[in-house]
Amino acid sequence: MEARISEFINRYIRDGYFPEMHLTDIIEIVIIAFLVYEIMIWIKNTKAWMLLKGILVLGVFIFLAFVFQMHTILWIARNSLTVLATALIVVFQPELRRALEKLGERKYISAVVPTLDSSRDKGRFSEETIDGIVDACYIMGKAKTGALIVVEQAIRLTEYESTGIQLDCIVSSQVLINIFEHNTPLHDGAIIIRNDRIVSATCYLPLSDNMGLSKDLGTRHRAAVGLSEVSDAMVIVVSEETGYVSVAQGGVLDRNITRERLREYLTEIQNKRSESRSIIAKLKGRLIHERKSDA
Ligand code: ATP
Ligand code: MG
Repeated sequence: MEARISEFINRYIRDGYFPEMHLTDIIEIVIIAFLVYEIMIWIKNTKAWMLLKGILVLGVFIFLAFVFQMHTILWIARNSLTVLATALIVVFQPELRRALEKLGERKYISAVVPTLDSSRDKGRFSEETIDGIVDACYIMGKAKTGALIVVEQAIRLTEYESTGIQLDCIVSSQVLINIFEHNTPLHDGAIIIRNDRIVSATCYLPLSDNMGLSKDLGTRHRAAVGLSEVSDAMVIVVSEETGYVSVAQGGVLDRNITRERLREYLTEIQNKRSESRSIIAKLKGRLIHERKSDA
């Protein structure tokens, strides 16, 4: 026994034992820490939290069965493991899909291969569109007209678009105000804006199941947050009750924002598009230039 202890001390303590570390190990630790953090945040913000509690209860039950050697229960548990794993994938299909979609989003893709998704970049929206949206939102807010406006970005919202009535109409404040006017056929649900055009109205959006959302938010706000959780779209809400204008993006709701802030939000995504376009334009320009100088 003593010999073992002294061997241990010799090996690990006296010689100043320190595992060999490489740069890749440090990078690996950082990556894993980041992933664990992201997964924890994700679990907290989605229905995964309830599910995790369920799994914990199940785990405790199986552990008790193990302690008391209840063989039949253990046998059932062992044999249903693969079924459970499949069930998890089915239950989390939307979240897993969203996670993969997020990886494929423009900001990562264009950083690596800027030309890959250039086909999507036919046109960014114009200043007139921003003016139209901002004016309409605050006029509707003042009149306490409820509105739900989705501004599409890199991810196509075709499946939500098809839940509504198809339109093809240039954005202007007058059109927006007219669409959301009470007791008109198009006022219910959300409209979707792609570039400078309204492509669909009365769309049904997925409701968020984030339990951290304020209880005084109704379904319109939950729908806005819900869509922003499953896509990269920016969703603008005008409240019928308070007249406040809010913006949902990435699952976060920025409530009661000012006109200037809304304009900033819109300009931000407008610039995002033009930036990646300008990179492509620069690359193309350079290619043409090189070709010319080769000749
Ligand atoms: P407000 O502050 O405007 O009252 P709210 O968050 O309290 O908003 P509700 O009062 O429940 O929400 O608003 C109901 C309206 O929200 C509906 O008439 C409908 O137009 C819209 N809405 C509700 N759910 C959805 C959904 N899933 N997708 C799109 N629009 C929705
Ligand atoms: Mg309400």
